[in-house]
Amino acid sequence: MKNGTILIPLAVSPNLNDYDSFCQSFSWQEEKQSLDGLREGKGLNIAYEAVERHAAGELKDTIALRCIGKDRTCRDFTYNNLHKLSSRFANILTTLGVQKGERVFVLAGRMPELYIAALGTLKRAAVFCPLFSVFGPEPVFQRLSKGDAKVLVTTKSLFEKKVRQLLEKLPSLQFILLIDEEAYVSEKVRSLPRMMEEAYDEFSIPATSPEDPALLHFTSGTTGMPKGALHVHEAVLMHYMTGKYVLDFHKGDVFWCTADPGWVTGTSYGIIAPLVNGVTNIVDEEEFDAERWYSILEDQKVNIWYTAPTAIRRLMRMNIEPKKKFHLEHLRLICSVGEPLHAEAVLWGKKAFGMPILDNWWQTETGGIMIANYLSLKVKPGSMGKPLPGIEAGIAEINDRELKITSQPEQQGHLVIKKGWPSMFHAYLHEEERYNKCFRGDWYITGDLAKKDADGYYWFVGRADDIIKTSGHMVGPFEVEAVLMDHPAVAEAAVIGKPEPVIGELVKAFVVLKSGFIPDEATQMDIMGHARKYLGAAVAPKEIAFTENLPKTKSGKILRRLLKARELGLPEGDLSTLERG
Ligand code: AMP
Repeated sequence: MKNGTILIPLAVSPNLNDYDSFCQSFSWQEEKQSLDGLREGKGLNIAYEAVERHAAGELKDTIALRCIGKDRTCRDFTYNNLHKLSSRFANILTTLGVQKGERVFVLAGRMPELYIAALGTLKRAAVFCPLFSVFGPEPVFQRLSKGDAKVLVTTKSLFEKKVRQLLEKLPSLQFILLIDEEAYVSEKVRSLPRMMEEAYDEFSIPATSPEDPALLHFTSGTTGMPKGALHVHEAVLMHYMTGKYVLDFHKGDVFWCTADPGWVTGTSYGIIAPLVNGVTNIVDEEEFDAERWYSILEDQKVNIWYTAPTAIRRLMRMNIEPKKKFHLEHLRLICSVGEPLHAEAVLWGKKAFGMPILDNWWQTETGGIMIANYLSLKVKPGSMGKPLPGIEAGIAEINDRELKITSQPEQQGHLVIKKGWPSMFHAYLHEEERYNKCFRGDWYITGDLAKKDADGYYWFVGRADDIIKTSGHMVGPFEVEAVLMDHPAVAEAAVIGKPEPVIGELVKAFVVLKSGFIPDEATQMDIMGHARKYLGAAVAPKEIAFTENLPKTKSGKILRRLLKARELGLPEGDLSTLERG
């Protein structure tokens, strides 16, 4: 490490080998040439790019998808298999009368049928909407109803537990296809295996425009009900190019994204990006388990691994030295998204795997990675990196009337992105006003606060909603959490502002201790002293509470607003994405 930056050891020459010059010469038009597009004048379809074109070419017999079941049996699908199976599914949708743009939902664990249904839906030019299988009936209802679901693919047990009771309230839901039902059930509830068997495995993708809707992802607002962000087929260009330049896909690579498709990462990067780039995509049906995860990296000879800070923090807490215990010599890149990746975690990657973990930033609305660390760029641990070539980001001051991009390095402000990138969301379904509010002039306002340093690296500060105003300072929870995480006793930390008459808000921290540390006053004082030393008395937490767990979303993000609501005895708001332990 030199001047706070790390150079990454390179095993393979990266696709993006000179960030600055590539940004200068970059053109979307040129990038588009790498996608086949449909036949002359027929536009762009994600599933065509992801499977059909490969099935007709040299990747035909390459494994596109390897699904590892809970019992660790593997089911492999070549590009050709996946093409044929997704064509069968697309034909089923046609038989059921599903029209272009209508919504097909999947409520299932990470099993092959989910992936086949996703690609088949896209081929039919209908809209694919994945749901977390762990959702309870209420969030399932909200989403099916708001998304006007016409078809739902699910399992028998999920149907019985979560959906049957809702049918009367969901008039637009016409068909339920059960993944594990062999027998005839009814006109409305059908056996997917039977229909797949009867369906024809050739399908002609209808004319699809790059602007046609393709994907619907629900994202939870801080207080309101979940919003349905709608993405179009052109998003595939972003998936393709971020796969190439951030995840650095090379021919023959094996890739594993640990995210569930119920979260946007699990679709954009757990389905589309690897397939469009023609690599082998690993899917594990099981939830987090450190030993299992390491052994998957070993057994599957994973080259590129995309995961999230919440999992990394859990791995860091365990006394496993992966590089010593497992054969991980195939691994050459680890990326993380979803939450701030603290400097400590980036450096742990170096110790544990021999490479720093590369953070990148994006959100449901952006549809693809916007800011990233790249193999060829020095890493500044704790920074989200730099914008993708072709993406213009900025730090803005925003008031009621104007949005002003600052040129001042290190100034904290709103993270904004210049409109018009290919995977930009096109609507919040049925909520035009909410959508319009996200834009000001040419800029999309992300809702995050950040800083840009003099070298052009972006640093996350916090969600604009989570920002703490204490004694005239604006404090981002992340900067406080990052310092707390540096203390040897702290496994996880979340920071909120608690109203206080004199200073406005006081900084309160919720801390999960590493095993072996005692949650007593001495530990509390020690952590407080550490925070004061690095942050100063104005910013350091004035209160520290120990807790066993932090409330998190199903995609692993800490729900600070829930900690705050609980602390203040306020309504807890929308809890549909809360992970229930
Ligand atoms: P979602 O739309 O659920 O994926 O959440 C997106 C939000 O997660 C962003 O607006 C950020 O607040 C947060 N986020 C995602 N990636 C990062 C990152 N690398 N660093 C900090 N926050 C992140």
